[in-house]
Amino acid sequence: MITVFGSANMDLVAYTARAPRLGETVTGRDFRTVPGGKGANQAVAAARAGGRVTFLGAVGADAFGAELRDTLAGAGVDVTLLRRAPGASGIAHIVVDDQGGNSIIVVPGANGTVTGPTAAERDLIAASQALLLQLELPMPAVTAAARAAREAGVPVVLTPAPAQPLPDDLIDAVTLLLPNEHEAAGITGAADPGAALDKLLERVEEAVITLGSEGALYGSRPGERLHVPAVPVQAVDTTAAGDTFAGALAVARAEGRPMPDALRFAAAAAALSVRREGASTSMPLRAEIDAALG
Ligand code: ADP
Repeated sequence: MITVFGSANMDLVAYTARAPRLGETVTGRDFRTVPGGKGANQAVAAARAGGRVTFLGAVGADAFGAELRDTLAGAGVDVTLLRRAPGASGIAHIVVDDQGGNSIIVVPGANGTVTGPTAAERDLIAASQALLLQLELPMPAVTAAARAAREAGVPVVLTPAPAQPLPDDLIDAVTLLLPNEHEAAGITGAADPGAALDKLLERVEEAVITLGSEGALYGSRPGERLHVPAVPVQAVDTTAAGDTFAGALAVARAEGRPMPDALRFAAAAAALSVRREGASTSMPLRAEIDAALG
């Protein structure tokens, strides 16, 4: 079983020719509500990729909370322990203009109320094959979850996004760090992914730097280095490519696949997700990933 301790947000996306300036009102063209949040996205990706997945976090006591819970459950994710906080669910208020530029306001809502794991959540983490974390919950909560897993000998996979300084007591509990190239450069100060990887491995046992259409770079402390090319596809929407990669990688590792195979599985899943619009609805099912791998 894979456990994700992370965020769930409703993305509120308005499409407009031009974003409004402060004090201005414009008429938009289209509006969509899309379930998201990096934690929920990774959970859905892992479940669709064939994993047994439990999601820990919080949604609000509003209609978005019910919808976020239903979306996770509908993807086959266990939401038995998902907390229901008083007040609003987390949202991302997104304006997309005709040039494809966007501006985003994230309001954490229920995500901001999450504290470290409860006793029941700790038991679940301890019984997991891996714990997946991101940085959209309060840092003390993320750190406490990572430490609970580490104490139980459960591997911790951290996607360090959104980018921010990583406290030592968090990074000390991480097994595999999974940044994209921008986050890796921010953490290490090294723009070159190979150099950034070397620096990351001074702090964690394993790291994967995802490189968009250039694939991913893996390294481990024993000195293993591996570049996995991306699967060439016509990219339509790269939203949540990294989260799809993380979820699928966790599934393949939980199945005991060697790292080169696990990385190919994750790259295939992520490539399939960028061929379709949307976040959770664009994530491939196991049969599609297996078919792509041939
Ligand atoms: P993030 O979404 O976190 O910014 P990346 O953009 O690095 O992460 O993408 C994560 C993974 O998704 C890449 O390692 C790659 O395997 C896959 N991917 C991303 N963009 C493409 C693309 N245009 N074509 C094929 N695969 C892609």
